[in-house]
Amino acid sequence: MTIGLLKESGEENRVALLPESVKNLISLKVSIWVESKAGEKAFASDEDYEAAGAKICGRAETLQADVVLGIQQPLDSEIDSLKESQVLICLFQPLSNKILVESFLKKGITTFSMDNVPRTTRAQAMDILSSMATVAGYKAVLLAASHSPRFFPMFMTAAGSIIPSKVLVLGAGVAGLQAIATARRLGAVVEAFDVRAAAEEEVKSLGAKFVKVEGAQDDKGAGGYAVEQTEEYKAKQQALIQEHAKKSNIIICTAQIPGRKAPLLITEDTVKNMASGSVIVDLAASSGGNCQLTENNKICLKEGVTIIGDSNLPSSMPMDASKMYGKNMVNFLKLIISPEGDLNLNWDDDIVLNTCVTHQGQIQSSRVKSILY
Ligand code: NAD
Repeated sequence: MTIGLLKESGEENRVALLPESVKNLISLKVSIWVESKAGEKAFASDEDYEAAGAKICGRAETLQADVVLGIQQPLDSEIDSLKESQVLICLFQPLSNKILVESFLKKGITTFSMDNVPRTTRAQAMDILSSMATVAGYKAVLLAASHSPRFFPMFMTAAGSIIPSKVLVLGAGVAGLQAIATARRLGAVVEAFDVRAAAEEEVKSLGAKFVKVEGAQDDKGAGGYAVEQTEEYKAKQQALIQEHAKKSNIIICTAQIPGRKAPLLITEDTVKNMASGSVIVDLAASSGGNCQLTENNKICLKEGVTIIGDSNLPSSMPMDASKMYGKNMVNFLKLIISPEGDLNLNWDDDIVLNTCVTHQGQIQSSRVKSILY
């Protein structure tokens, strides 16, 4: 069996497998074809891939492998050129990409989306969402610190005392918790808010204060994810966040609901009430943003506040982000490759079934089916 590794295009700096992951896969008795310069932006050369046992190919040949891997989806025309027997594995975000899912159905190809991996204990080693959220939460704080006109830690110097920055983290999932830990390590005073009651303990264990709004809906059937809240709750939440935001120097926004527009937590009015020089980093920018004034993929200064809209911060740390992505990918591939090195799709395995978007013209993932149709 052959596995093809695509070079990412545009602004994407990561690669789905680094040479170390290629080496690991070759021990599974598969051949790896790597598109020339695939690892260049993640500091892995064609020679490094060759030394790991891969063959360097052109793009057209790579796209003919039995299993084709990438991060961002290939061009529509390239997807169109795939055969029904081929498997394509990327981060497709199928819950907000119905047109793409329909094109897969029409082609009859097998597609797996790594953002579909169930958030279960057994699937943890393949959980690319958690890996990338870890990178994003960490980098968001560094970015905020470098755009802030103030120190993060407290200083007592001969030139006087500097009070520590106040950081407010909205959404305490994987990215939010990493942001809290990073901001604390830099010496900031940190508060965090989430609609999930379970987040309170995790926030406190990292030394941050939990901002609590009573009356949140927590749906046990949502697999640990947040669910849409009532209008009454949203109004209470808005008022409390406004109060805390006014006193914060930095806000890190990470609140998301899979397949939905991101919740609006910071209104224009809230931004107007923040101190000049404050910084907002909005990781939910691509799904509408948690801040009303966020512009996706832009850094802008509004009402004296720097607002950074970036949902692809993992791409700005391509070396370690690719390392984590590749390790998760190899662990997933081990589930669908037999010891003889053949493709083995076991639909009784919940991880295989639910990570799969389409197979032979059918949607496999129950989550994709229920949210899209
Ligand atoms: P996410 O990226 O979907 O959302 C980020 C955070 O935003 C979540 O904590 C969510 O509750 C919060 N949020 C949503 N709407 C909000 C609102 N209106 N106000 C404030 N906060 C809001 O989440 P994630 O980081 O991918 O994690 C989602 C869940 O999955 C968590 O419960 C996490 O613990 C769980 N998880 C489990 C595993 C595992 O068991 N293997 C792995 C990773 C994550």
